[in-house]
Amino acid sequence: MGGPAAPDSSWKGSLNVSYNIGPGFADNSSTRKVRMHVHTNNKITRIYNVIGILRGALEPDRYIILGGHRDSWVFGGIDPTTGAAVLQEIVRSFGKMKMEGWRPKRTIIFASWDAEEFGLLGSTEWAEENARVLQERAVAYINTDSSIEGNYTLRVDCTPLLYKLVYNLTKEILSPDESYENKSLYESWLEKDPATENNSYPRINKLGSGSDFEAYFQRLGIASGRVRYTKNRKADKFSNYPVYHTVYETFELVEKFYDPTFKKQLTIAQLRGKLVYELADSQVIPFDCRDYGEALKGYSNRIYKLAKKHEEQLKRYKVSFDPLFSAVVNFSKAAAEFHRRLEQVDKKNPVAVRIMNDQLMFTERAFIDPLGLPGRKFYRHIIFAPSSHNKYAGESFPGIYDAMFDIESKADQHEAWEEVKRQISIAAFTVQAAAGTLQEVA
Ligand SMILES: [Zn+2]
Repeated sequence: MGGPAAPDSSWKGSLNVSYNIGPGFADNSSTRKVRMHVHTNNKITRIYNVIGILRGALEPDRYIILGGHRDSWVFGGIDPTTGAAVLQEIVRSFGKMKMEGWRPKRTIIFASWDAEEFGLLGSTEWAEENARVLQERAVAYINTDSSIEGNYTLRVDCTPLLYKLVYNLTKEILSPDESYENKSLYESWLEKDPATENNSYPRINKLGSGSDFEAYFQRLGIASGRVRYTKNRKADKFSNYPVYHTVYETFELVEKFYDPTFKKQLTIAQLRGKLVYELADSQVIPFDCRDYGEALKGYSNRIYKLAKKHEEQLKRYKVSFDPLFSAVVNFSKAAAEFHRRLEQVDKKNPVAVRIMNDQLMFTERAFIDPLGLPGRKFYRHIIFAPSSHNKYAGESFPGIYDAMFDIESKADQHEAWEEVKRQISIAAFTVQAAAGTLQEVA
């Protein structure tokens, strides 16, 4: 691990056999065989979620959840301990403020999940057990899994509702990066990882899965987000860090190589903590629906571009994306009008504020289809889902995307394009219905 640089494909270790780390077998006709002995245990065991609640002073029936897992594959030096430690430190900070007499306006729920590595078990059980209450009362879920997977720059995956809050908060936090002294986290993040579509903003990714926010976002439709430090995506195309989930994930690895000053983890603690604080204590929930409208516009253009590769079939089977485009325009209009009204709301009228806060809270919920996506009934968000090809990554308009995936190889073309039309209808209906929830209530 103390080597000067990452090994390239010609790198050769000291074992007495020839091997390298890539780029794959040069000779595909190789007949070499490998015998592996795999030992696994199969037993039923108890798991423990630890839940802490800080009751809200003004709106105790509105919840902000900060949750992350505590179990690990082996020692868990990075995954999850760099995140579990952040959860503990945030709890300690909020506890200190509480001891000084402070209480948040809304209730904060701190959750240390068990058995994430076995299939998101702890967080999903708790979401299922409390589903009725959560779908009525949860404002947001912030995930606190590993806070580092590299030490280059910030990585954010979240609902578009949180874009503005994340951008604002990263401007208030100092960058932990070398040669960025006295600059903000936002500045170093923007410089190192600008968005592809608009390089005047730092990149924010779609939520996929692979961690405990899944049941909260993809199934219940609770606005969610995750932030952590990551590697340079341009220099390193591998999807995860080299020792991910192995016996080599130790405390020493973090202390010696990943974050010797612990500044990266501190930065992530500050950002996750600030997100929770603002969501729980701002009079108006700091969501921006206009960014959702912009995101929907981008996603609908992207899916249409994919469809246009089959121009002839679109004509033959009368497939139109117009209803979806129209619904997206209506959503953006409703969002713009909503925020105009929000600026003028009488802040001294608690009922007026609560009405609009409820509309903000239920915006994400409006994208949930109780029937779920085709063949995946627990993924019920119509705008986002874990990609069917890589669970860690997010896909937008997943119903339409999956219906069109590899469509030319389907035997019954008529039925295949009817399914695309069905998925466009579902998406258009859902976006239009969501727009309806943002309209003035009377
Ligand atoms: Zn993890």
